[in-house]
Amino acid sequence: MQKKGILFVVSGPSGCGKGTVLAEVLKDPNLYFSISATTRIMRDGEVDGVNYHFYSDAQFEELIREDGILEYARYCNHYYGTPRKPVEDQLEAGKHVILEIDVVGAMNIRKKCPDAVLLFLMPPSLETLRHRLCKRGTETMEVIEKRVAQADREMACADQYDYIVINDVLEDAVADVQAIIRAESCRNYTEK
Ligand code: 5GP
Repeated sequence: MQKKGILFVVSGPSGCGKGTVLAEVLKDPNLYFSISATTRIMRDGEVDGVNYHFYSDAQFEELIREDGILEYARYCNHYYGTPRKPVEDQLEAGKHVILEIDVVGAMNIRKKCPDAVLLFLMPPSLETLRHRLCKRGTETMEVIEKRVAQADREMACADQYDYIVINDVLEDAVADVQAIIRAESCRNYTEK
Protein backbone atom coordinates (compact mmCIF):
# COMPACT_ATOMS: atom_id res chain seq x y z
CA MET A 1 0.00 0.00 0.00
CA GLN A 2 1.22 3.50 -0.86
CA LYS A 3 2.28 5.37 2.30
CA LYS A 4 0.83 8.87 2.60
CA GLY A 5 3.20 11.82 2.79
CA ILE A 6 3.79 13.91 5.90
CA LEU A 7 2.73 17.52 6.18
CA PHE A 8 5.56 19.76 7.45
CA VAL A 9 4.94 23.35 8.47
CA VAL A 10 7.85 25.77 8.57
CA SER A 11 7.42 29.16 10.23
CA GLY A 12 9.85 31.82 11.25
CA PRO A 13 10.00 35.59 11.15
CA SER A 14 10.39 37.36 7.84
CA GLY A 15 14.14 37.70 7.18
CA CYS A 16 15.17 34.69 9.30
CA GLY A 17 16.43 32.93 6.18
CA LYS A 18 13.50 30.55 5.66
CA GLY A 19 13.66 30.98 1.88
CA THR A 20 17.38 30.19 1.71
CA VAL A 21 17.17 27.18 4.03
CA LEU A 22 14.11 25.79 2.23
CA ALA A 23 15.65 26.29 -1.23
CA GLU A 24 18.42 23.87 -0.15
CA VAL A 25 16.10 21.40 1.57
CA LEU A 26 13.72 21.36 -1.42
CA LYS A 27 16.40 19.96 -3.71
CA ASP A 28 15.08 16.61 -2.45
CA PRO A 29 12.62 15.41 -5.14
CA ASN A 30 10.47 13.65 -2.51
CA LEU A 31 9.41 17.01 -1.12
CA TYR A 32 6.69 19.23 -2.51
CA PHE A 33 6.60 22.92 -1.64
CA SER A 34 3.12 24.35 -1.38
CA ILE A 35 2.88 27.65 -3.25
CA SER A 36 0.77 30.01 -1.15
CA ALA A 37 -1.71 32.55 -2.39
CA THR A 38 -1.34 36.16 -1.28
CA THR A 39 -2.78 39.61 -1.90
CA ARG A 40 0.45 41.48 -1.14
CA ILE A 41 2.27 43.16 -4.02
CA MET A 42 4.91 41.22 -5.90
CA ARG A 43 8.53 42.00 -4.95
CA ASP A 44 11.23 42.53 -7.57
CA GLY A 45 12.38 39.16 -8.84
CA GLU A 46 9.24 37.31 -7.74
CA VAL A 47 7.22 35.37 -10.31
CA ASP A 48 3.46 34.73 -10.15
CA GLY A 49 2.84 31.01 -9.69
CA VAL A 50 6.42 30.38 -8.54
CA ASN A 51 6.91 32.37 -5.32
CA TYR A 52 3.21 32.91 -4.69
CA HIS A 53 -0.07 32.96 -6.56
CA PHE A 54 -0.75 36.70 -6.50
CA TYR A 55 -4.47 37.42 -6.17
CA SER A 56 -6.71 40.44 -5.66
CA ASP A 57 -8.72 40.67 -2.42
CA ALA A 58 -11.86 39.68 -4.36
CA GLN A 59 -10.18 36.60 -5.90
CA PHE A 60 -8.83 35.51 -2.52
CA GLU A 61 -12.19 35.94 -0.80
CA GLU A 62 -13.85 33.89 -3.56
CA LEU A 63 -11.36 31.07 -2.89
CA ILE A 64 -12.20 31.17 0.84
CA ARG A 65 -15.92 30.93 0.04
CA GLU A 66 -15.31 27.90 -2.23
CA ASP A 67 -13.39 26.14 0.62
CA GLY A 68 -10.37 26.10 -1.68
CA ILE A 69 -8.07 27.33 1.11
CA LEU A 70 -6.73 24.93 3.76
CA GLU A 71 -5.76 27.78 6.11
CA TYR A 72 -5.24 31.50 5.79
CA ALA A 73 -4.18 34.47 7.86
CA ARG A 74 -3.92 38.25 7.59
CA TYR A 75 -0.37 39.52 7.82
CA CYS A 76 0.60 43.21 7.53
CA ASN A 77 -2.87 43.95 6.03
CA HIS A 78 -2.74 41.23 3.36
CA TYR A 79 -4.20 37.77 2.98
CA TYR A 80 -1.88 34.77 2.87
CA GLY A 81 -3.25 31.24 2.45
CA THR A 82 -2.58 27.65 1.42
CA PRO A 83 -4.49 26.32 -1.61
CA ARG A 84 -6.06 23.05 -0.45
CA LYS A 85 -6.10 20.76 -3.49
CA PRO A 86 -2.39 20.55 -4.41
CA VAL A 87 -1.51 19.77 -0.77
CA GLU A 88 -4.09 16.98 -0.48
CA ASP A 89 -3.14 15.50 -3.89
CA GLN A 90 0.60 15.40 -3.09
CA LEU A 91 0.11 13.85 0.36
CA GLU A 92 -2.14 11.23 -1.19
CA ALA A 93 0.58 10.49 -3.78
CA GLY A 94 3.05 9.83 -0.93
CA LYS A 95 5.07 13.04 -1.12
CA HIS A 96 6.00 15.06 1.94
CA VAL A 97 4.55 18.56 1.68
CA ILE A 98 6.19 21.69 3.09
CA LEU A 99 4.10 24.70 4.01
CA GLU A 100 5.94 27.92 4.71
CA ILE A 101 3.37 29.81 6.74
CA ASP A 102 3.06 32.19 9.67
CA VAL A 103 2.32 31.22 13.29
CA VAL A 104 -1.44 31.80 13.00
CA GLY A 105 -1.59 29.51 9.98
CA ALA A 106 0.59 26.92 11.73
CA MET A 107 -1.73 26.79 14.75
CA ASN A 108 -4.74 26.38 12.41
CA ILE A 109 -2.98 23.50 10.65
CA ARG A 110 -2.26 21.90 14.03
CA LYS A 111 -6.01 21.87 14.75
CA LYS A 112 -7.05 20.67 11.28
CA CYS A 113 -4.20 18.20 10.66
CA PRO A 114 -2.98 16.88 14.05
CA ASP A 115 -0.31 14.68 12.38
CA ALA A 116 1.43 17.69 10.82
CA VAL A 117 5.00 18.33 12.02
CA LEU A 118 5.71 21.93 12.99
CA LEU A 119 9.16 23.50 12.71
CA PHE A 120 10.12 27.00 13.80
CA LEU A 121 13.16 28.65 12.24
CA MET A 122 14.74 31.22 14.56
CA PRO A 123 17.14 34.02 13.72
CA PRO A 124 20.06 34.16 16.19
CA SER A 125 18.71 37.56 17.43
CA LEU A 126 16.33 40.39 16.52
CA GLU A 127 19.35 42.56 15.65
CA THR A 128 20.53 39.99 13.08
CA LEU A 129 17.01 39.92 11.69
CA ARG A 130 16.83 43.72 11.30
CA HIS A 131 20.24 43.67 9.63
CA ARG A 132 19.18 40.91 7.17
CA LEU A 133 15.95 42.75 6.28
CA CYS A 134 17.88 45.99 5.64
CA LYS A 135 20.41 44.12 3.50
CA ARG A 136 17.61 42.49 1.45
CA GLY A 137 16.53 46.03 0.57
CA THR A 138 13.03 45.05 -0.60
CA GLU A 139 11.09 47.00 2.05
CA THR A 140 11.01 50.55 3.41
CA MET A 141 12.34 51.22 6.95
CA GLU A 142 8.76 51.58 8.17
CA VAL A 143 7.81 48.12 6.87
CA ILE A 144 11.07 46.66 8.24
CA GLU A 145 10.27 47.95 11.74
CA LYS A 146 6.73 46.54 11.42
CA ARG A 147 8.19 43.17 10.43
CA VAL A 148 10.73 43.22 13.31
CA ALA A 149 7.91 43.93 15.79
CA GLN A 150 5.88 41.10 14.23
CA ALA A 151 8.95 38.82 14.48
CA ASP A 152 9.21 39.55 18.20
CA ARG A 153 5.59 38.48 18.66
CA GLU A 154 6.04 35.39 16.46
CA MET A 155 9.15 34.23 18.34
CA ALA A 156 7.11 34.13 21.53
CA CYS A 157 5.05 31.31 19.89
CA ALA A 158 8.07 29.12 19.08
CA ASP A 159 7.46 26.85 22.08
CA GLN A 160 4.21 25.65 20.45
CA TYR A 161 6.22 23.98 17.66
CA ASP A 162 7.58 20.41 17.58
CA TYR A 163 11.07 21.56 16.58
CA ILE A 164 13.07 24.78 16.83
CA VAL A 165 16.01 25.31 14.45
CA ILE A 166 18.32 28.30 14.87
CA ASN A 167 19.53 29.71 11.57
CA ASP A 168 22.95 31.06 12.49
CA VAL A 169 25.15 29.00 10.15
CA LEU A 170 23.16 28.16 7.00
CA GLU A 171 24.64 24.67 6.44
CA ASP A 172 23.82 23.66 10.03
CA ALA A 173 20.23 24.88 9.77
CA VAL A 174 19.77 22.99 6.47
CA ALA A 175 21.23 19.81 8.00
CA ASP A 176 18.94 20.15 11.03
CA VAL A 177 15.80 20.48 8.89
CA GLN A 178 16.88 17.53 6.70
CA ALA A 179 17.49 15.43 9.82
CA ILE A 180 14.03 16.25 11.18
CA ILE A 181 12.35 15.26 7.90
CA ARG A 182 14.33 12.03 7.77
CA ALA A 183 13.56 11.09 11.35
CA GLU A 184 9.86 11.86 10.96
CA SER A 185 9.76 9.68 7.82
CA CYS A 186 10.82 6.72 9.99
CA ARG A 187 8.33 7.41 12.79
CA ASN A 188 6.36 4.40 13.98
CA TYR A 189 2.69 5.35 13.94
CA THR A 190 1.33 2.07 15.28
CA GLU A 191 -0.20 2.20 18.76
CA LYS A 192 2.28 1.09 21.43
P1 5GP B 1 6.34 37.51 2.97
O1 5GP B 1 5.48 38.72 2.68
O2 5GP B 1 7.64 37.88 3.63
O3 5GP B 1 6.53 36.64 1.74
O4 5GP B 1 5.53 36.60 4.00
C1 5GP B 1 5.04 37.15 5.18
C2 5GP B 1 4.57 36.07 6.13
O5 5GP B 1 3.47 35.35 5.57
C3 5GP B 1 5.65 35.04 6.45
O6 5GP B 1 5.67 34.85 7.87
C4 5GP B 1 5.16 33.81 5.74
O7 5GP B 1 5.58 32.62 6.41
C5 5GP B 1 3.66 33.99 5.83
N1 5GP B 1 2.94 33.20 4.83
C6 5GP B 1 3.31 32.92 3.56
N2 5GP B 1 2.42 32.12 2.97
C7 5GP B 1 1.46 31.86 3.89
C8 5GP B 1 0.25 31.06 3.88
O8 5GP B 1 -0.11 30.41 2.91
N3 5GP B 1 -0.48 31.06 5.02
C9 5GP B 1 -0.13 31.74 6.14
N4 5GP B 1 -0.90 31.63 7.21
N5 5GP B 1 1.01 32.49 6.19
C10 5GP B 1 1.78 32.55 5.08
